[in-house]
Amino acid sequence: MTTLSGRCLCGAVRFELHGALSAPHACHCTECRRQSGHYVVASEVARAGFALTEDRGLKWYRSSDSARRGFCGDCGAVLFWDDGGEAVSINLGCLEGPTGLTLQRHIFVDEKGDYYALDDSLPKFAGYDRPLEAEGTAKSDTTKAPSPSR
Ligand SMILES: [Zn+2]
Ligand SMILES: [Zn+2]
Repeated sequence: MTTLSGRCLCGAVRFELHGALSAPHACHCTECRRQSGHYVVASEVARAGFALTEDRGLKWYRSSDSARRGFCGDCGAVLFWDDGGEAVSINLGCLEGPTGLTLQRHIFVDEKGDYYALDDSLPKFAGYDRPLEAEGTAKSDTTKAPSPSR
């Protein structure tokens, strides 16, 4: 079983992750950008595999009706996203390396900042899982016949 550990900048929050992590995504949503100062790269771990080993600095900010964001009240590190579901989202910048993880996709790119480019070849989604290519083309596609090869 994989075990990774992580901590905030000052050490007032420390944790361990047991078990597989989901494919890492970069989230460009407005909330992640405002909280982190840029964008966030995160993976999810099953709730049962998420173990806090130090939580004296841990604070939770309820950022929406459905989710809260964990951060260190002492150093300000942005650590967790939790919607109360089966998994907890962990910001990968606070993990001890090597993590063995590689960024797999970009989400909420419709909310990204205009001051940076996304020029890698990874899949990009508007929202959590809507393929970006489908934006604005979904309706016209139904009337289009497959074009003959040229
Ligand atoms: Zn801290
Ligand atoms: Zn986000």
